Amino acid sequence: MSELNPVVEDRTFCEVHPDRETALRCNKCGRLMCAECAVLTPVGYRCRECVRQHEDKFFTANQYDYLIVFAVSAVLAAIGGAIIKVVGFLLLVIIIGVPVGGAISEAALRMTQRRRGRYSGHIAAAGVVVGGLVGGVAQVYLAYSAELAEIARRFPGRELPALPLDAVLTATVSDISLLIFIGVVAFIVYGRFNLRI
Ligand SMILES: [Zn+2]
Ligand SMILES: [Zn+2]
Repeated sequence: MSELNPVVEDRTFCEVHPDRETALRCNKCGRLMCAECAVLTPVGYRCRECVRQHEDKFFTANQYDYLIVFAVSAVLAAIGGAIIKVVGFLLLVIIIGVPVGGAISEAALRMTQRRRGRYSGHIAAAGVVVGGLVGGVAQVYLAYSAELAEIARRFPGRELPALPLDAVLTATVSDISLLIFIGVVAFIVYGRFNLRI
């Protein structure tokens, strides 16, 4: 009579967590993995190493691509932000935020021959946030300068105060339409870069 219990013999455990019993195997390399270690992909459960290897093949962007993605996103979002600061109202920014986000990500993808990296989505979204706020601030300054020029023309010789930076920043970040516009565009751009098509 064998001392080994055949049931115990058949028990298999996660290769990362030897205390966790599992029968699940990576469908690429075959290693045993627990529920926490398994990643559900469109082609089935895979281990983290295989997923990462697959992603490394997919991510071909270099650091210049990241720079281009940031610059394109920031410049276009700055233009968009400045326009929204003038004409923006809530319904409009919600309607145009999605196509604007799509257009910005498409422009950034074309400028980099559609190369993407692990962080392209984060960088594009950061570009949108920075660019959008800078565009909003620039618009407030331009509008104030135009007003100053108009007052100076009507009342020659009058001394006019420069616009304090904190007033500009307050005027920018208290603009709900602009903030929602930036948020929607950043969300769309981030999603588009992570869509992997
Ligand atoms: Zn694997
Ligand atoms: Zn595990």
